[in-house]
Amino acid sequence: MSRTRRVIVLGSTGSIGTNTLEVLEHLRGVGHEFNVIGLAAGTNGSLLAQQARDFDVSELALCDSGSASALGPSATVRTGSDSARQLVEDLAQPGDILVAAIVGSAGLEAVLEGIAKGCDIALANKETLVAGGALVLPLAKQHGVELLPVDSEHNAIAQCLRSARSVEEVSRLVITASGGPFRKWSRADINVATIEQALAHPTWTMGRKITIDSASLMNKALEVIEAHWLFGLPADQIDVIVHPQSIVHSFVEFNDGSVLSQSGAPSMKTPIQYALTSPDRVEGCSPKLDWASLRQLDFEPLDHDTFPSVSMAWNVIREGGTSGAIFNAANEVAVHAFLGGTLHFGGIFDLVEFALQSIAATPVDSLEDVLRADRAARDLVSERAASLGASAGGT
Ligand code: NDP
Repeated sequence: MSRTRRVIVLGSTGSIGTNTLEVLEHLRGVGHEFNVIGLAAGTNGSLLAQQARDFDVSELALCDSGSASALGPSATVRTGSDSARQLVEDLAQPGDILVAAIVGSAGLEAVLEGIAKGCDIALANKETLVAGGALVLPLAKQHGVELLPVDSEHNAIAQCLRSARSVEEVSRLVITASGGPFRKWSRADINVATIEQALAHPTWTMGRKITIDSASLMNKALEVIEAHWLFGLPADQIDVIVHPQSIVHSFVEFNDGSVLSQSGAPSMKTPIQYALTSPDRVEGCSPKLDWASLRQLDFEPLDHDTFPSVSMAWNVIREGGTSGAIFNAANEVAVHAFLGGTLHFGGIFDLVEFALQSIAATPVDSLEDVLRADRAARDLVSERAASLGASAGGT
């Protein structure tokens, strides 16, 4: 009889985090029991408190100490920027599952801690791999833990790869992209798009940062780099195709000419559940596809001139070293500036390109190498964004 697995959810108050808790609740109802032992969040103390009550969890982490009073006296609460990693260090045991759903490279150290403790990682936090893949993959191998992709495209690829003996049989991965809200827009119009327009994703409901990344296709760029790390393929074997309906979640082309894909309604609950239960499949809680009403599936090439993001990602893979950390940190700062109203949308592409051109990539041998590159890119891009904002304000 299989034992009840223990789960720690990092980023529990976000889009993936709340979906994960709903999936865990559903799985409990179909007899697939998990024991949630720890929850970590950034600022939303009241939702974290509610989740702790709902799942009877007393071990918590919250970055914002000012919001921790909402958590009540009976919980053990870590606070501060290192609190999620601290929670993992305190609680994790070999065989646990760590759901990594913090947004941004802020999640990297907690993931490394979880791997070192022998946890399997259900990974949504793609920035962790983009910035620190050179550390995460060898550590996972060393500790014999699984990286279970939650991102729908990588989850799809992992499912398709179950039919392969090895990745040597794969000729190409083709990651699907909805195209976001600016598909078919001109670059001139995209450059001056508003925050509301950029947040209006046509098929997915997600956190604000990934929604902006989807509009800029930086999300697809991050996913290309994520796929490189997860599946061990070079840049020229990872392609992207636009598929506006978001029904086919990616393709794997094999060297004999066969192509496998995984499809499903666009709901993150399906890949989250598969990451938690795989290799088993259990009755799901997402809407099932209605094939009879599905009239059309469209595929079109990505316009790399309008959206330079994926080309940047291929270059980052070829460059290696700290270029992923530089790319990711520059994008995080640029998205923050755009959402803060101090950067025009097109400035995201310019600032990321500027960081990649200005900071030389160096080899990654330690966490400090990644953190140093991350800081350098943040400082450079913050300064540049501030000067662009100031000059825009003066005109
Ligand atoms: P959200 O913005 O909705 O949620 C982010 C979560 O991270 C929140 O719980 C937030 O807490 C928490 N958080 C932020 N910073 C910290 C920190 N320093 N320490 C601890 N917790 C922190 O994002 P999403 O759920 O949309 O995305 C999460 C990750 O999953 C991203 O990497 C994204 O790319 C990836 N992903 C998301 C998908 C989606 O459909 N949403 C699909 C595929 C991948 P609080 O809200 O309390 O401040």
